[in-house]
Amino acid sequence: MAYAISDACIACGACAAECPVSAITEGDGKYVIDADTCIECGACAGVCPVGAPEQA
Ligand code: SF4
Ligand code: SF4
Repeated sequence: MAYAISDACIACGACAAECPVSAITEGDGKYVIDADTCIECGACAGVCPVGAPEQA
């Protein structure tokens, strides 16, 4: 399953810079992952300071 970003996101943008397929964009108050684009590499979860990206 694709990763999804929880409400813990502080919108720092670190994950978007790491995503190899540019699946992460800034949303309303937090960042969001396009599930259809995500290749489940886990890079976003590895750089997030608050552990917001979770595998659904
Ligand atoms: Fe991008 Fe990988 Fe995170 Fe999916 S798991 S959103 S491909 S960094
Ligand atoms: Fe949100 Fe974590 Fe991504 Fe920063 S790295 S924008 S806190 S999900």
